[in-house]
Amino acid sequence: MLQTTTKRSIPSSGLSLRFLTTRQISSRPVDFAFTPEQDAFRAEARAWLDANVPREPLPSFDTREGFESHRAWERTMADARWSVINWPSEYGGRDADLMRWLIFEEEYWASGAPGRVNQNGIFLLGPVLLEYGTAEQKQRFLPSIARSDEIWCQGWSEPNSGSDLASLASRGVRNGDDWVLTGQKTWCSRGAFAEWMFGIFRTEPGSERHRGLTYILIPLDAPGVTVRPITQLDGAAGFAEVFLDEVRVPVANTLGEPGQGWTIAMSTTGFERGVVLRSPGRFMATARRLVELYRSRGPDVPASLRDAVTRAWIDADAYRLHTFMDVSRFLAGGEMGAETSLNKIFWSEMDLRMHRTALELLGGEPDPRWLDGFYFSLAGPIYAGTNEIQRNIVAERVLGLPRS
Ligand SMILES: Cc1cc2nc3c(=O)[nH]c(=O)nc-3n(C[C@H](O)[C@H](O)[C@H](O)COP(=O)(O)OP(=O)(O)OC[C@H]3O[C@@H](n4cnc5c(N)ncnc54)[C@H](O)[C@@H]3O)c2cc1C
Repeated sequence: MLQTTTKRSIPSSGLSLRFLTTRQISSRPVDFAFTPEQDAFRAEARAWLDANVPREPLPSFDTREGFESHRAWERTMADARWSVINWPSEYGGRDADLMRWLIFEEEYWASGAPGRVNQNGIFLLGPVLLEYGTAEQKQRFLPSIARSDEIWCQGWSEPNSGSDLASLASRGVRNGDDWVLTGQKTWCSRGAFAEWMFGIFRTEPGSERHRGLTYILIPLDAPGVTVRPITQLDGAAGFAEVFLDEVRVPVANTLGEPGQGWTIAMSTTGFERGVVLRSPGRFMATARRLVELYRSRGPDVPASLRDAVTRAWIDADAYRLHTFMDVSRFLAGGEMGAETSLNKIFWSEMDLRMHRTALELLGGEPDPRWLDGFYFSLAGPIYAGTNEIQRNIVAERVLGLPRS
């Protein structure tokens, strides 16, 4: 894992992992310690979460009631400036680096805090708004995302364009100062209740594949938008398909330049698959609960299940350390490239294994939390790009294998 290249002492952010040459690994220990500032930050986050996390779990955010109670929780976090800690302070953040963000996430999930109802806005749109947005767009959208006054859904997939997203057909036609949008988006998480959607549209007539696409921000109450909820396996209907019938959206709602949609979308995808959507803290919390469940089952648990619990813990910790290494490298000026596909395969398959193990330990005993988690873990190998596609990416771009 640490057979990376150059000797670099990582600067003031106090990064825990240092990059060593293979020769140095044998002669020098890796420093896993956090800095005193990072420890103090962790203590501050933990104290706030201890005092504020709702005692009872909120209803599912895929229901209207749960959606609104999660929005209220987001506002509580925003009031204390915990909702978007790695954003600039002028938009409600704390200017935290990614290392602090990982620490916060560990504390967040360990505390049993609710899921993030505006994760699309906060984790996917926010970073690209900061990178590609105009000053007006940042001022207009970022504070309302930070407070979840406006909750966003992601409008990329279409009925005939999922894995092959570049084949998308929804189009935008320029008319004066507006785009006129027509088409259908599907599988929009929390789209049934969201106020806004970010989507990609074909705006250059006759363009093909990833060329001629534009990234557009769409209010879901605009005339011509129809949101149709989709009922999920667990019975809730937060998912939606979104139909657009000559919907007029100001050209000022274009993120980046017309035609730049694919580039921006792919930079969102990197964040999504990489560390940001599923940070290790989430899986460490699941692994911890799994160990507790195992302990509660008494001495007669079969050895195979004991081994599965042990593996879950080791996997979650390995993902944690790997992510700290990735982030260390990123903060030291490195890039997150196609390797993020490896992360996505790893966390989604690990999550599924952990939930299967929990259900086996329960042996048919009803436990809504584990069951809901299991249902959701089934989707992990599909969303954010299926694992088959991720394996193709790893084969071609990480390992350099031929396309066929
Ligand atoms: C829980 C969940 C939430 C989601 N949220 C959103 C959202 O908010 N916004 C949004 O836009 N989308 C969302 N999606 C959609 C998701 O991105 C797509 O389901 C995914 O990209 C796959 O597309 P598809 O469903 O059209 O399947 P297809 O692309 O039709 O794939 C079907 C099967 O064929 C395999 N396959 C396809 N092409 C290849 C290939 N070249 N090589 C090998 N195997 C291949 C796939 O791996 C898959 O197993 C969500 C999906 C889920 C499950």
